[in-house]
Amino acid sequence: MDFGLTPEQEMIRQTARKIAQEVIKPRSAELDETGVYPEDIYQVFKETGLLGLNFPEEYGGSGAGTLGLGLAVEEVAKVDNACALILLLTKLSTSAIMRFGTEEQKRKYGQGTALGEIRGAFGLTEPGAGSDSANIQTKAEKDGDFYRITGTKHWISGANVADFFLIATKTDLRAGSKGFTVFVVDKDTPGFRVGNSDKKMGVRGVPTCELIFDEAKVPAANIIGEVNNGFKAIMWNLNSVRPIVAARGLGAAEGALQYAVDYARQRVTFQKPIIEHQAIQMMIADVAMRVEASRWLTYNACQTVDDGHADREHAHILSMAKAFSTETAVMAADTAVQILGGNGYMMDHPVERYYRDARQLTIVEGTSQVQRMIITKSIIDDMLNWK
Ligand SMILES: Cc1cc2nc3c(=O)[nH]c(=O)nc-3n(C[C@H](O)[C@H](O)[C@H](O)COP(=O)(O)OP(=O)(O)OC[C@H]3O[C@@H](n4cnc5c(N)ncnc54)[C@H](O)[C@@H]3O)c2cc1C
Repeated sequence: MDFGLTPEQEMIRQTARKIAQEVIKPRSAELDETGVYPEDIYQVFKETGLLGLNFPEEYGGSGAGTLGLGLAVEEVAKVDNACALILLLTKLSTSAIMRFGTEEQKRKYGQGTALGEIRGAFGLTEPGAGSDSANIQTKAEKDGDFYRITGTKHWISGANVADFFLIATKTDLRAGSKGFTVFVVDKDTPGFRVGNSDKKMGVRGVPTCELIFDEAKVPAANIIGEVNNGFKAIMWNLNSVRPIVAARGLGAAEGALQYAVDYARQRVTFQKPIIEHQAIQMMIADVAMRVEASRWLTYNACQTVDDGHADREHAHILSMAKAFSTETAVMAADTAVQILGGNGYMMDHPVERYYRDARQLTIVEGTSQVQRMIITKSIIDDMLNWK
């Protein structure tokens, strides 16, 4: 049974598949090794319209929505998770803007991103606040028509190439989640700078960096939504993007499984290809079951966001897809390493990279534990709608 994709969605899938297989796949090992952002691949995404998938037509996009973006991300993640992250960032840096921003903000940052004129990044995490995001300490103090932002964000994906940053701050440090205000900060803002890139385990083609705000002078006109009501916008942003992280997991799992199956057909032990050993077959079946389940959870979560439900009442659907698909990616890559044996551990084959990349996915945008907290909360609050 098919999920019922439209001809347009099928076309997006084919376009992304072609780019992934012909342009990205030959570059993946090199991106991982050098850790240099692939500007040329970003340009291909721009020329083929993939940067605008998630944006309405009136803002320079193609109106393909979260599901359209998810399909493209899945195809790219089959071969390279850093390049899949480049596509994800188009949504992570703009979802709150497109939902809560002014017309001017949507035009400047949303349309600009869709057309590939500017790039954004998303800054929530701080050295002292990750899962406990309500505890951020970056503060914004009013100064006439401006705000002065002071604090540090860390591990911000794509910061080194970003032109603007969607930033969570506190305008009331004592009010917890009720003191949040979200700003969009341009890269040339006085008092703001991007720090050095981090040395990390995987997804190395998109560097992460620190953001340093030293009384950075940001116009009050750059507030997204309302003062002290920004937590809602941040949660909306995270909820909207979780299905796309799930798509990164789904694609990675499919890519790892396919590679392991191809290898198992070729590798001979005890006079037969290892795919004929039952122990190998069991491993393949275990991954295949989870991949299929991930696909349904992911597409359904994408559709849920497209139906306008990136809200608290539907958060568990998005969290289930995110946790399950990303854990499937880790399991699939781990299994692929095992099926390849010693070759799986060597950089001559991509499965060790899939493994390192997949480990990122169960941590970002809410760890697997945080997703389970959200799912359980919805059960306690009786939101599952299973009766
Ligand atoms: C490669 C990479 C890229 C990233 N990109 C971005 C980005 O672009 N923008 C951004 O804002 N952030 C980014 N992050 C940060 C990411 O979102 C955080 O790492 C994540 O939210 C977890 O926070 P933490 O690392 O501080 O872990 P912590 O919050 O310190 O958690 C540590 C461990 O404790 C567990 N834990 C915490 N609280 C609980 C609890 N109540 N119950 C049970 N278990 C709990 C967690 O699940 C985890 O296992 C990135 C991180 C990485 C690694």
